[in-house]
Amino acid sequence: MSDCIFCKIVNKEIDSEIVYENENILAFKDVEPQAPVHLLVIPKKHIESFMNFQEEDDELFAEIMVTLQKLAKDFELDRSGFRIVNNCGEEGGQTVNHVHFHLLGKRTLTWPPG
Ligand code: IMP
Repeated sequence: MSDCIFCKIVNKEIDSEIVYENENILAFKDVEPQAPVHLLVIPKKHIESFMNFQEEDDELFAEIMVTLQKLAKDFELDRSGFRIVNNCGEEGGQTVNHVHFHLLGKRTLTWPPG
């Protein structure tokens, strides 16, 4: 989508600190980190929100989960713990309408979230 900021990051029209990329997925550092490690993992394909994954996206969805697990290991979050967050829709706090999973770690995270 031409006006989507994350599509622009995928297309390298906007700079980002990419930490992982393959043909289907991109992972980059969040520009406003809420923890010492704060990454965003997105499908390169424009999917608006968690609720817009279709059956045809099953493999892509699984690949995103495997990537989150790999990054948790790569950034050494697996021993101390970490959090994966998907904000969905307005009340869920979603501000960018290209589905993304936050991976947060390297600090003690509190519960409940705000
Ligand atoms: P949401 O609130 O769950 O939709 O998360 C959107 C996230 O994207 C926020 O944590 C923002 O800080 C982050 N963000 C917005 N624009 C950029 C950017 O250009 N580069 C990296 N992260 C971004």
